[in-house]
Amino acid sequence: MKNKITALLTLALLALAVSCNKQNTKKDNVGELSSENTSNLEYVKSIKKIDIHTHVRSEQQYLINFMDKYNYKYCAIVNIGGSNHNTLQSQIDTAKMLYNKYPRYYGWITTFDISKREESGWTNAVISQLKDDFNNGAVGVKIWKTVGMEFKKENGEYLQLDDPIFIPIFEFMAQEGKTLLLHMGEPIHAWMPTYTTKEGIGRNYWAKRPEYSFWDKPDLPSYSDIMAARDHVLQKHPNLKIVGAHLGSLEFDVDEIITRLELYPNFAVEIGGRTRYFMWQANGKVRDFFIRYQDRIMYGTDRGASSNMTPEQIKNTLEGILYRNDLFLRYYATDNEIPWGNIISSDRPIPESSYTVTGINLSKNVLDKVFYKNAVNWFPGIDKDYK
Ligand SMILES: [Zn+2]
Repeated sequence: MKNKITALLTLALLALAVSCNKQNTKKDNVGELSSENTSNLEYVKSIKKIDIHTHVRSEQQYLINFMDKYNYKYCAIVNIGGSNHNTLQSQIDTAKMLYNKYPRYYGWITTFDISKREESGWTNAVISQLKDDFNNGAVGVKIWKTVGMEFKKENGEYLQLDDPIFIPIFEFMAQEGKTLLLHMGEPIHAWMPTYTTKEGIGRNYWAKRPEYSFWDKPDLPSYSDIMAARDHVLQKHPNLKIVGAHLGSLEFDVDEIITRLELYPNFAVEIGGRTRYFMWQANGKVRDFFIRYQDRIMYGTDRGASSNMTPEQIKNTLEGILYRNDLFLRYYATDNEIPWGNIISSDRPIPESSYTVTGINLSKNVLDKVFYKNAVNWFPGIDKDYK
């Protein structure tokens, strides 16, 4: 009797194993995990990770749950546009609250109000605000694309990053050992003509958001002008650590990033939601870039949460975060063929993928740096309570 039960149990287990195998084979066909690379993927899922580029504007339990499950810490960036500078203080207060209440989950990066630059005492006021923010845990300062593309000087020229008004602020930051995070300009595509389908439907982001399309706005500075102003600052302030958000707006070609990394030892980049631009480029070229510059690239998604989100918005946001987290970790940590497609119009989840991209299969050592160690080196203090 006992033997009979054992035999039946063995048969049942065998049947289960066969059906699991079948499932795995089927998954492999649609680009799911292949067993030989599972280990690096499991590794990157398990290690501590810092997402250096997020915009969290309220307490959101679903984000904490996500960070717990996938072992992340977020860096919440304070960001004000040219016209809504009155939100600066409330954003700083929220970032400080997140940092003080959830130090394991949130670090923060501050900013300052450029719209008040004509007021007397502005430089000193900025420096004393930054001092205060650094004392309250801010690990860096962000400057947004309004510099270069929105603020104008009295003579009608656009205010650029290499304007002398910023020099004392950059010098103060270098002295304090704090890092400047720059989102200068936009992807180069914003200066190119948009294109449409024969039905007249916009095919890319800029066709859908014409206010951010500049090819037909010749009064705006060129892409090259904005990049050059940033490069001047990199050259003039060698003791200031500077991180280019969104791959320094050089996302279309890793060679363009490499040119700056070679010229300016004080420069590093964060991905800032631009993984899809790597996917457009040759797999081997992107992989070499990560290996050669493994100490100067850090992970960031540009995701976040605003206040007053409806349950529906929370559900959709979380779905997007989970989808991209899975996809991007597989891209960086395996050489799987990853279903992808329709990326010209958006990076949102799509029901059908039109083609696949090959993952760049980074080593554990490189994954450690890109997802954690580089953020700690370039933004000292970001690992507080997450060591
Ligand atoms: Zn951002």
